[in-house]
Formats: sequence, C-alpha cells, structure tokens
Amino acid sequence: MSARYIFITGGVVSSLGKGLASAALGALLQARGYKVRLRKLDPYLNVDPGTMSPYQHGECYVTDDGAETDLDLGHYERFTGVPARQSDNVTTGRIYSDVIAKERRGDYLGGTVQVIPHVTDAIRDFVVSDITDEDFVLCEIGGTVGDIEGLPFLEAIRQLGNELGRERACYIHCTLLPYIGAAGELKTKPTQHSVKELLSVGIQPDILLCRAERDIPQGEKRKIALFCNVRESRVISALDVDTIYAVPLTYHREGLDVEVLSYFNMMKEGQEEEIDLSRWSDITRTVRAPEGEVTIAVVGKYTVLLDAYKSLAEALVHGGIANNVRVKLNWVESEIFETDDPVPYLENVHGILVPGGFGERGSEGKIQACRFARERNIPYFGICFGMQMAVIEAARHLAGIEDASSTEFGPAKNAVVGLLTEWKKGNRVETRGENDDKGGTMRLGAYPCILEPGSKTQEIYGERQIYERHRHRYEVNVGYREKLEAVGLKFTGMSPDGILPEIVEREDHAWFIGVQFHPELKSKPFEPHPLFAGFIEAAVKTSRLV
Ligand code: GLN
Repeated sequence: MSARYIFITGGVVSSLGKGLASAALGALLQARGYKVRLRKLDPYLNVDPGTMSPYQHGECYVTDDGAETDLDLGHYERFTGVPARQSDNVTTGRIYSDVIAKERRGDYLGGTVQVIPHVTDAIRDFVVSDITDEDFVLCEIGGTVGDIEGLPFLEAIRQLGNELGRERACYIHCTLLPYIGAAGELKTKPTQHSVKELLSVGIQPDILLCRAERDIPQGEKRKIALFCNVRESRVISALDVDTIYAVPLTYHREGLDVEVLSYFNMMKEGQEEEIDLSRWSDITRTVRAPEGEVTIAVVGKYTVLLDAYKSLAEALVHGGIANNVRVKLNWVESEIFETDDPVPYLENVHGILVPGGFGERGSEGKIQACRFARERNIPYFGICFGMQMAVIEAARHLAGIEDASSTEFGPAKNAVVGLLTEWKKGNRVETRGENDDKGGTMRLGAYPCILEPGSKTQEIYGERQIYERHRHRYEVNVGYREKLEAVGLKFTGMSPDGILPEIVEREDHAWFIGVQFHPELKSKPFEPHPLFAGFIEAAVKTSRLV
C-alpha cells in the first residue's frame, strides 16, 4: 500500500467549504489520472449523524452500504463519482464506542486505556483502513482547529504524518481572509493565528487554502508565506464563486493541483497544464447560461436550513443541466398550508416536490401540496415521506378512506403507512420493534426494486431492476394496493419479494411519481439522475403551457 494522504483541516471560522474544497481537489487529481478516495473525520460524540436533527447538522447522506454519514460525503461523491462507503466517515462517538467495547471485552489486557495511544490508534487505524490501490486518500477533519473535541484527531494525523514521512503525507489548511471595508484590506492575522494553533499541536501546514471575497494581493500572500512558514506559491487563494462546479476550475487556475503534486515530487516540468478539465468548463457554462428557467416548489419542514436538503438541491440543478434550464427553487414551509390557502404559493410553479422528512409536524401541509399538484395536473415528485404523503392523500380524498394515516403520527385505524417490522436484506431477514434503538436501525442503503413494465418510471429508467438508497422506518402498506390502484395510484415499483411498495405513479397526470428511496443521493452533475431529469423535463413542458 503506497497511497499518499492529504489531510485537510480548517481554521478561523467554520463553514469555509472545506468539504467542497476537498471534493474539488479530489476531482482535480482524478482529472490528472489518479485514483482517489475521500474521507471525513467528525469530532462530535454522536456515533453517526443519523440521530441528529437536520437543523443541527444538515442532511444525513446515506451510502450504498447503508451508512448514515456527513453531508460532505455527498460532495465527494458528486464531484468524483466514487461511491462513498461506511469506511469513509467516522465520529468521535464511534471511535470511543469501539474503544470502550474493546475495553469491556478485556482486549487491552489490563492496561490503562487512554486517549493517547488508544483513541488515537483507533483513529489512525480507521484512516488507513479499507484502502487498496488508491493513489491519494484525502482526509478532511471536521470542525475548526482549536476546538477541544478535535484534538485527538489532529494528534492522530500528526502521528500518521510522522510515520508516513513527508513523501506520503501533506497537510492542507483552509482559512479565511476577512475583508475589512473600513480599512479596505483583506486581513491575514486570523490565518496567522490559526496556523499557530495548528503548530501548537505539532502540525506544520504545507499548503494554505485561503478563502476570500476578493483577490488576495501578492504582497499579502508573501506575508502569509513568511509568517506561516509556507512557500509563497503554496498560499492559494480560494475566491467565492457563483457555482460550486466552478471550484475545480478556479483551484486549478490558482495552482492547487500543481502545488500538491509538486509537493509529492510528482509534477514534471512542463506538465502543469496537462489536465483536461473540459467537462467542468462545459458544465459551468450550462449552469451559467441556460436556455430557460423553471420554478419548483419544495414543500418541506427544514426550509430555513438549506443544508438539510443539500443533495436534493444539487439533484434538481442536475435535472436542470439535463434539460438546459435553470431550476429556481421556492422553498415553502409546509405548515403554512395548514392555515393558508396554497394557491398563492403554488399556482405559478412548474413542479412541486415533497422531500424526505420525519414526524407529524407539517405533514398535513404536505398532504395539501400533493392534493394541489394532483388536482391541478402540476408535475409532482414525492421522495420518501413525500411518497407516503401522496399515498395518504389519495387514500383520503379518492379512495374514501377518510382516516387514512401513518403510524409515525400515532396509532391509526387505517394505517396506509405503517412501521416496517420485517424486511429482507439479501438472504437475511431484518426485524424491528416499536421500542428498538433509534440510531442506525432504519432500512438503510441500497436495495433492489423491480419496475412494472410499461410504467412511466420504467420508461424513465429504461431498466427493469434498479438499486436505490433508502432511509426509512415506515412503509406504504401493500394491503391497500387494490383500493389505491382502483383510484389511479399505481404501484409500479416493488421490492423483489413483492411486499414493499417502492414507487407509486399516476397515469392520468402530467407527471406524478412518488418513490420510497432517495434518488437525489445518486445524482451527479455529469450523470443527472433520470427521475430528476424526467421531473424537470415535465416542469419545462408545464412552463410552456402557462
Ligand atoms: N419518516 C418516514 C419514514 O421513516 C420517511 C423517512 C424519509 O423521508 N427519509 O419512513
């Protein structure tokens, strides 16, 4: 194993876009022909982000192998196309629970179990685990340098760097250069302090990636280089951009890939420009100058924190790319429809999407949104919770089951959506009970689904069997299939054993599809997900009608 490790830390403030920076660097190294893997170490105490509210942590990104992970893994996968795995994200919570479980088993043979070396060893083992022939492993450390909880991670990567040697380890530090209007200057002092903080734990950064609102004058770069003990050419400016897909292009222009490779002695003279980034420039061109625009209303619950719908928002952009249009998103808080008329919010949109969600609050409003879309023939896309709400809507308003509901909201006589207590995972049967732990116990990850020949969904996918990622605890009750199909809501995708409804659609409608899985997780800018491409195509048609 001779992978090279690039450790990415952040300083000064959080939300610097370290995740995107890592993803963009991954994409650049890939464009130079290297095999990359991206990982994230998160210093919080939750075992994974699965139990956290989206308000706390944004979206929970689910991998094929069923891990609930940090949303940065979504950026990594979208930018590099490398499917993220369980082994690409770890938290302090998971590290500690493993260490403590080992201690209880007696694996430490009477030793005193300590942060150094036992916790740091567990972190190091994780960082180098499950790597085969990758050329580069990019490992991002969550949080900001100086946080107490991040210390064991910094210590672990310091030790690793020491062991691997400089030829196999590189430290990139992302910082911010705030612009002070009154002085008319970008300030370098916070960066200097942040690097000092990093030095105090024994890490000398090799490359600085400096976020700034405007161009960083060469003089300032020189100053940073001098004070932070970094070569001037390795002080890279990372300016704000209008689309995230321009990030690889701007980083290349600033020399990031060249500096990383020259750090590792992998850059031959004259090869600096031998990189094909045309697919990135093509995509930014489409995003910047599309031929038209459609408006989609996303009716959800976490609309004040858009990170909660990161992959969804990106997948809609991808749907726009596939149709050469800009997708304008109107985020609508669903609770509004419980008191207000939906007409002013929804009558002028070209598509309505109800995304994944949890809990009763806002659910009646989502049901209203489904009804509006169905009755007005506006393209409707229901994802996970959004499919469940569409089913309840049809049951109540078309099939005459007035008390149709989901047991997620409490006991229900007509539970058209109910708790999943048993399902097949490959050859195994998974079982769950009402009082089981909440963490990591949903139906998670990729499962196969068989599509109904001749259905709209089957036509969109062009395949009979698909694999999509799931994250749910409740499921549409197949016992209501006949009643719902009789009123036009067809079950066109089922689990291979025919028990779990995975897709519903209406034939008598412009575009009305609900899916139990999360297609947004697999959409990529260069490979827009067919359902998102199809949904936006239908929205474009609707926009021509109004
Ligand atoms: N709350 C629903 C369930 O657990 C939907 C989940 C989701 O939308 N991801 O089944």
